[in-house]
Amino acid sequence: VSSVELTTEYLERIQRLNPEYNAFITVDADKSLQQAHAADQKIAVGDAGPLTGIPVAQKDIFCTQGWLTTCGSRMLSNFVSPYDAGVIERFNAAGAVNIGKTNMDEFAMGSSNENSYYGPVRNPWDISAVPGGSSGGSACAVAARMAPAATGTDTGGSIRQPAAFCGISGIKPTYGTVSRYGMIAFASSLDQGGPMARSAEDLALMLNVMTGFDARDSTSLQRDAEDYTRDLENPLSGLRIGLPKEYFAEGMHGDVARAIESALDEYRKLGAETLEVSLPNSPLSIPVYYVLAPAEASSNLSRFDGVRYGYRAESYQDLADMYRKTRADGFGAEVKRRILIGTYVLSHGYYDAYYIQAQKVRRLIAQDFKHAFAQCDVIMGPTAPSVAFDIGEKSSDPVQMYLSDIYTSAASLAGLPGMSIPVGFGEKNRPVGLHIIGNYFTESRMLNVAHQYQ
Ligand code: GLN
Repeated sequence: VSSVELTTEYLERIQRLNPEYNAFITVDADKSLQQAHAADQKIAVGDAGPLTGIPVAQKDIFCTQGWLTTCGSRMLSNFVSPYDAGVIERFNAAGAVNIGKTNMDEFAMGSSNENSYYGPVRNPWDISAVPGGSSGGSACAVAARMAPAATGTDTGGSIRQPAAFCGISGIKPTYGTVSRYGMIAFASSLDQGGPMARSAEDLALMLNVMTGFDARDSTSLQRDAEDYTRDLENPLSGLRIGLPKEYFAEGMHGDVARAIESALDEYRKLGAETLEVSLPNSPLSIPVYYVLAPAEASSNLSRFDGVRYGYRAESYQDLADMYRKTRADGFGAEVKRRILIGTYVLSHGYYDAYYIQAQKVRRLIAQDFKHAFAQCDVIMGPTAPSVAFDIGEKSSDPVQMYLSDIYTSAASLAGLPGMSIPVGFGEKNRPVGLHIIGNYFTESRMLNVAHQYQ
């Protein structure tokens, strides 16, 4: 098929399904088809790569030239980006087609997509369930076949947890691998973009396009390009899978535990051995995350002042009143909660007690992984403690919501790559995700481990 035909198919599907699922904030058929035409021309002259002409849904956190880029917030509800994020440039250069901008928790803060100014997204497996968050629109789009693949971003679990809830695959690469230029900042020392798709093979093709040095991102890493498909077919014999005893303790629901155990049995049949490892500081990862991420967010979000771009309050008395009203109306409740927490932990008198202390524990969490990876090649466990919960079930209890990331946030704090792959179904026939954590820069091996299961 041509890219125009393929793109048309997906656009029709989006038109039919999106009113119910709410996975996309912006769809622009003309722009998508224009890119599809250009891709078909590239293909005709033999100038095509693996993603040329392939529709990809872009999380609405990536600045996209000429497209509304809202980050799920009223604050950016009128913001048409004048430039492309590094990631978007790379997809454009590869000839991919932007099929639309996906819904997300406001400024990527959330685990259920209920914090979006544009309303909640529904889980395609069960429309009374959340799709997870914050990349819930992307996860839903891929699961409901409204796009073959999508981008997400992960600060504490936002690629992996929605992938798990929607029964798809997603990988957060090593911190510094994917450019953060033009990716609207939440917590800069944790934020990392990555792909979401139906298989490890598709993730590898996406990563080949997304990764690479970008001088405009000060934490971008300069490394040789790799082909992430290169290890997919390797056998798993001799693979050492570490099972952190802390992850298999309390908190995990029985249905999730059963699906994880049977996936591990499958790995043993494929020639892997499992052994117990310990991540003693991992119970501290949620408290540490909820000091550091809000601290960084409170600083990053200070740029939204109504002056140069974005939402501005309609009427105000003076400059201070304009700031106040703009930020009071432009930000939602969860974003305000994070700004308040962040401002508090960074304030004089509390900085040492909270922020510095959290930085020290962050280092200990990273060291736990270092010790564990001396014994094993990958670490496995559940991606989330339960299957997707119902819309509304946790929205009034922030701490319950934060605990959704209990297994994912430690890898984020350590900057390690993490991925989720679907391994069956739990309660109410909702999908379960297996979490695979690898050592730094071992994405190819992780994709191999995932591919052999799939
Ligand atoms: N759920 C976490 C939060 O609300 C992580 C979000 C993310 O990874 N962007 O901060």
